[in-house]
Amino acid sequence: MKVFKFGGASVKDADGIRNVAALLSRFANEEILVVISAMGKSTNKLEELVHAYYHNTGAAPALISDLKEYHFGVMNNLLPEQPLAFRNDIENLFLELECLVENANNLEDFDFVYDQIVCFGELLSTKIVSHYLISQQTRNLWMDARNFILTDNRYRDGKVQWDKTEHTIQNRLKPLTSKNLVITQGFIGRDSLNTTTTLGREGSDYSAAIFAYCLKAESVTIWKDVAGVMNADPKKFPEAVLLSSLSYNDCIELAYYGASVIHPKTLQPMKARNIPLYVKSFIHPEDEGTAVKQDAEALATPCFIHKTNQVLVELSTRDFTFIVEENLREIFNQLASYKVRCNIMQNSAISFSFGADNKEDRLVRLCEALENLGLRVTIQEGLELLTVYNATETRPAEWFQGKQVILQQQTGETIHYLLR
Ligand code: ASP
Ligand code: MG
Repeated sequence: MKVFKFGGASVKDADGIRNVAALLSRFANEEILVVISAMGKSTNKLEELVHAYYHNTGAAPALISDLKEYHFGVMNNLLPEQPLAFRNDIENLFLELECLVENANNLEDFDFVYDQIVCFGELLSTKIVSHYLISQQTRNLWMDARNFILTDNRYRDGKVQWDKTEHTIQNRLKPLTSKNLVITQGFIGRDSLNTTTTLGREGSDYSAAIFAYCLKAESVTIWKDVAGVMNADPKKFPEAVLLSSLSYNDCIELAYYGASVIHPKTLQPMKARNIPLYVKSFIHPEDEGTAVKQDAEALATPCFIHKTNQVLVELSTRDFTFIVEENLREIFNQLASYKVRCNIMQNSAISFSFGADNKEDRLVRLCEALENLGLRVTIQEGLELLTVYNATETRPAEWFQGKQVILQQQTGETIHYLLR
C-alpha cells in the first residue's frame, strides 16, 4: 500500500480539490491512504482565532465567519447543492468550533487551547475532500487520525508514542486500508486523556511518515506545487536545479537546516523502515520528481538554504571573566526551556554568540532570562542566514554582493554564513 500526502496548497480551492480527485482516480486499483492538511492558509486563520479567544479580544466571531465563508465557498463551487450528509458534517464541525470559543476563556495553557482549535482546519478539509470524492463515485472512508496517532500531552509539539500508535494502526486501520481508499488528517493526534494534540506546524508530512511506518507501506508520496526537491528555492535562485534522487541523510540535513520542502521529522521513520519518499508535482503528476531513498547517488551540486529574519545574540560576562562550562550549561538550559534553536554559534574566551530565528515573543523572554543569569546581552536583528550544504565550490560571490558576513561556521562540507 501507498501513503499520499496533500498539503494546504493542493486543496486551497475547488479546482485544487478537483485536481486531487482526478489524481486519485489514476490510482483507483491501488491501496492508498491519503493524508491531507488544512485548506490553503486556514491554519493561520485558526491561529488568529486561538489568539482572539485566548486573550478575549472579541474578534472570534468575525474570524469564524471568515472561515465559514471560505469553506462553504469552496463547497458551493465544488457542488452547488451538497447532499445532506455533506452539509451536515461541515455545519456540525463549525457548531463545535463556535461552542468552543463562545464563552470567555479561563484556561491558562495556551498550547492546550491552540490544539483544541487549530485541529478544525484538518477536520474540515478532509471532510470536504471525502464527501466530494463520494459525490464523484470515488468510495472512501473518512478516518479521524486522532484515533491512530497517539502522543504524549505536550500540546503543539506532541511526541508520538510509537508502540501504541503502531499497535493501533496495525489492528484497527490496516484491515480497513486493504479494502478502502482512506482519507485522514495530517498534523493531529491525541493524548491518553483523549484530548487533541498537534505535531507542530507543517506536521502533516510527519503524519504521512508515521502512517507509512506503522502500515509498513511501500512508499510515501508528498504531492506539492513544486517539481520536487530543488538545490535552492527557485523563487530566490533562478538557477536552482531539481534533485532527482537524494539519500535519507542528505534530505534530513537539508530539512534540518531549513529547506522548506519537507518537515524535518519526516525522514527518520522512513529511513528506519527503508520506505522511499517521493516528492512530486500535483500539477504535473506524470513528471519524475524527487526520490528520497537508501541507494541514492551522491549529491552532485551544492545546496543553498536561505533564511531571513535572523538574530545574532552576543553574550558576555559583566565582570569580564571568562565564559566557562558553568556559563555554557546555564545558557543551553535557557535555550532549551525557551525552545530557541541555535542555527549558528561561536564561543571565545569572553563571549558566546549564537544566531537564531527571530521568534519575537520567545527571544525577548530568553534574553531576559539570560540577563538574569548575570550576562551582558546584545542583539542584532534583521540578519540573513545562508547555509551551503555539500559546499564543493568556492563561495558563490554574487550571493554575497552588498552583504557583510558577520559570523561564519563550517562543519565538514556544510558552511553557514550569517549576513547583514
Ligand atoms: N495545517 C498545518 C499547518 O499549516 C499542518 C500542515 O500543513 O502540515 O501547519
Ligand atoms: Mg498546512
